[in-house]
Amino acid sequence: MKKIAVFTSGGDSPGMNACVRAVVRTAIYKGLDVYGIYRGYEGMIEGDIKKLYSHSVSNIIQRGGTILKSARSMEFKTPEGRKQAYDNLVANGIEGIVAIGGDGTFTGAKIFQEEYGIPTVGCPGTIDNDLYGTDYTIGFDTAVNTALEAIDKIRDTAAAHDRIFFIEVMGRDAGFIAVDCGIGGGAEFVMVPETKTDLNKVVKSMKNLRKNKSSSIVVVAEGDDEGNAEVIMNKVKERIKDENKDFKVTTLGHIQRGGSPTARDRVLGSLCGMAAVEGLLDGKMNCMAGVMNQQIVYTPFADCIGKEKLLSNEHLKLMEILSI
Ligand code: ATP
Repeated sequence: MKKIAVFTSGGDSPGMNACVRAVVRTAIYKGLDVYGIYRGYEGMIEGDIKKLYSHSVSNIIQRGGTILKSARSMEFKTPEGRKQAYDNLVANGIEGIVAIGGDGTFTGAKIFQEEYGIPTVGCPGTIDNDLYGTDYTIGFDTAVNTALEAIDKIRDTAAAHDRIFFIEVMGRDAGFIAVDCGIGGGAEFVMVPETKTDLNKVVKSMKNLRKNKSSSIVVVAEGDDEGNAEVIMNKVKERIKDENKDFKVTTLGHIQRGGSPTARDRVLGSLCGMAAVEGLLDGKMNCMAGVMNQQIVYTPFADCIGKEKLLSNEHLKLMEILSI
């Protein structure tokens, strides 16, 4: 293998740049030529592919977003789109690929590799932490810390006015961000897609808020089974009917994707990037390079996509104990 390519795809996450940098520098260190594919699968189809050098990735480790840009491509879901992408890779002499993204990215990579056989190794780049085969995903730690900083600020104003805040964090299918923000931010409740939300319990507890504790923080993952933060707040408000209680909603939104990556995300991104290139040279394919128990682990894409990464029961128990 002499030429490889790297791309970022799906939702961007802080630490993707550190990962790209590690891929480029490891490839050069190993004597490979390395190309950047811009805008994920979209750029692969359009042939937006450029050679990268060591200096191409200077001064990016501390930056959020991704210098390679990201995109969601409907065309790559079609056989014609993938054929076009393959032709562009062949035209550039690409023999191996590093795909940085989440489960959608790996689903596409798996199909593509099975159709055309270009070895692909993935790196877990998503803030959601919902990939099986790695303890943490690149960007999760930064997203949690960004959300936590906002929650701390909201708590100040919530306490000043004795308000109850429903704070929505990202997580359509997974509650990892919500649980860590809930524990770290001292929330009274956390609502996540993985567990059934018991609104009766929430209402009962809010009616009985301690006399010296009239403010409250409820962290809601956007994909909770009872709805988003606004919907849940309205349901709770409706049932409590207490004019002395003041309810507010804050949706943190895309702020959680941006910002300078934390040390943890820079190190994780760098480790996974190095491991992906080493894996390709070692003959690995159709798998993701992740880190579990401080060890680099290669997990087949089929498992990363197909197996559910579960929330820790200990974390959920801790939430329950600390919120009394
Ligand atoms: P995040 O979890 O942060 O949103 P992701 O990688 O899951 O990241 P998606 O938008 O789901 O983000 O997927 C990225 C891209 O992967 C899609 O835009 C599409 O081009 C490709 N992809 C997803 N599913 C498939 C599929 N079934 N077949 C081919 N390509 C796919």
